[in-house]
Amino acid sequence: MKIHQFDAVIVGAGGAGLMAALYASKGGANVAVVSKLYPTRSHTGTAQGGIGAALGNKIGDDPNEDKPIYHAFDTVKGGDYLADQNAAKVLAEEAVDSVIELEHMGLPFDRTSEGRISQRRFGGHTLNFGEKLAYRACHAADRTGHMILQTLYQQCIKNNVRFFDEFHVVDVLMNQGVCVGSTAIDLATGEFHVFHAKATLFATGGWGRCWSVTSNAVSLTGDGAAVVMRRGVPMQDMEFYQFHPTGIFKLGILITEGVRGEGGVLINRHGERFMEKYAPKVKDLASRDVVSRAIYMELRNGNGIKGKDYVHLDIRPETVNRYLAEAGESKRIDRDYVEKKLPDILDFCRTYLGVDPVKEPMPIQPTAHYAMGGIPTNVDAEVVTDENWTILPGMYAAGEVACVSCHGANRLGTNSLVDLVVFGRRGGKAIANFVKTAPMTPLPANPTRQIEAEFDRLRRSNGKTKAYVIRDAMQKTMMENVGVFREEKAMQQAIDDLRELRERYVRDLVIDDRGSKFNTDILEAWELGCLLDLAEVTAISAINRKESRGAHSREDYKKRDDEHLLVHTLAYRECDEPYYSGTPDYRLNMDKKVDLSLALEDERFKPKERVY
Ligand SMILES: Cc1cc2nc3c(=O)[nH]c(=O)nc-3n(C[C@H](O)[C@H](O)[C@H](O)COP(=O)(O)OP(=O)(O)OC[C@H]3O[C@@H](n4cnc5c(N)ncnc54)[C@H](O)[C@@H]3O)c2cc1C
Repeated sequence: MKIHQFDAVIVGAGGAGLMAALYASKGGANVAVVSKLYPTRSHTGTAQGGIGAALGNKIGDDPNEDKPIYHAFDTVKGGDYLADQNAAKVLAEEAVDSVIELEHMGLPFDRTSEGRISQRRFGGHTLNFGEKLAYRACHAADRTGHMILQTLYQQCIKNNVRFFDEFHVVDVLMNQGVCVGSTAIDLATGEFHVFHAKATLFATGGWGRCWSVTSNAVSLTGDGAAVVMRRGVPMQDMEFYQFHPTGIFKLGILITEGVRGEGGVLINRHGERFMEKYAPKVKDLASRDVVSRAIYMELRNGNGIKGKDYVHLDIRPETVNRYLAEAGESKRIDRDYVEKKLPDILDFCRTYLGVDPVKEPMPIQPTAHYAMGGIPTNVDAEVVTDENWTILPGMYAAGEVACVSCHGANRLGTNSLVDLVVFGRRGGKAIANFVKTAPMTPLPANPTRQIEAEFDRLRRSNGKTKAYVIRDAMQKTMMENVGVFREEKAMQQAIDDLRELRERYVRDLVIDDRGSKFNTDILEAWELGCLLDLAEVTAISAINRKESRGAHSREDYKKRDDEHLLVHTLAYRECDEPYYSGTPDYRLNMDKKVDLSLALEDERFKPKERVY
């Protein structure tokens, strides 16, 4: 075992982790980033469509008078009023200078003819409290996340942040009620390393791999969330998991909402633009939960293409121009425009489907995409552990793994990238201040004893079931029973299935590779344990919330219940031994109130029915 000491350790090198590392180091802290992937392979690099900010850049003749307060309103409404309104306000206000800061760091955004950052439309983003669609998504073609990641990585290198690449964090260390660091395995050697730090920030991303059809990379197994939950930190609002409306049929690969932002439309087997029925005002650019449900309704009513489980997304210039003309808009697009604005999307469809989107429509279905829930934090990325906002000293979280909660029950497109840079930056600043005065609390005795025992157990597994068999069964039950539409019986089925799978995971797993170097077999089995934990806590939080709100849509409780359920869910894992000693229980607490501060100042932020 090796021990390293830093002021601050950032776990994860996506947009949130890198922004936090940059700001902590700018503030004078000695910072390390520990990442299981080489930093620029993080999922942030796949983000396509854009980053939202109320810059209000002029589009042709349209003045596009945008303001952060409109962005905050859309975020709160999009989140079906479960967002903490102070956090949504911070997100919208600080988005503006975060984007300008990225530009000044050298991020090559697309430009308008006047040379300003080019902005496109995205679902749920409007001007003047829902009056008309806003041009708010700043983008670099359909490679916005890639550019953010490269830009931030260069800045971190310039600022002497120390990187531990391909180090897999498997435990968090606590002592005297303080977070004192983390334990990682070096993939190349299999050795355990302890990262002793005054502050540890988790930025490990999401867990889309709990579902079988997902836009998420294979690495998105929710490790950070699972390890802190095993050490007593609750998970907030886990029932809210977003399905993005447009994943490639069967593969789940994402087709950015930017396609609809540029004028693309959804079409059923009868050639109908069906979103006109579900969201008459903004149509294909309603919020994602609304559009995903509409697609499922069409499929249920037998309106899938060729009777199958998909509909079409059409960005062919002739279709788009017809609808633009019908709407009385002056914009027209042609083949070159589509090639320039959406190059990666065209490439995916041509490569994986043999479909050329400028000539044929794309077959799409909703795909598991984004965790609104996660590790509870305040707006400074400090982890909080109960409804009284009690801070856990030394532990921070930012990005998709965290639940600030600025997205509430459903996130708007482009708001995750904003979340990464805004709350990553706030976390980095808070850490820089904290480490100036905080003492270095000692490590617990034998810091790696429990986790080494768990890996020994995994290494010796000699049952009959391979990890992928359990993983496939988990993904299937989650897709069928805890997906876009939910009801009691199906969710109970998922919980029962997951408990049985956990039993098999503990008692009947088999590992082929028993070595120590580059042992991905054992690490993937360990990641599966994280997925099982998060799937179960998602299903339990979901069955417990007896209403429909945002991405959590129940057929047996179709209405939103603001009177009783305008509260966050906190789920605590209850068992003494932190690692898999049978089936853990969960305690749910729903006493954490949603912050409605903007509603107190402005009637328009009061919870009301969402109409798009
Ligand atoms: C295909 C796709 C397109 C998207 N497009 C957009 C978009 O256009 N706009 C938008 O706003 N949002 C978009 N999103 C959502 C957004 O990209 C993600 O929510 C966001 O990038 C997550 O960033 P992050 O920094 O939290 O984590 P990630 O970028 O996922 O990075 C996670 C990091 O944690 C590390 N890590 C994980 N586990 C461990 C461990 N055990 N030990 C050590 N390190 C670990 C990984 O190595 C990685 O560096 C998209 C998402 C997808 C999947």
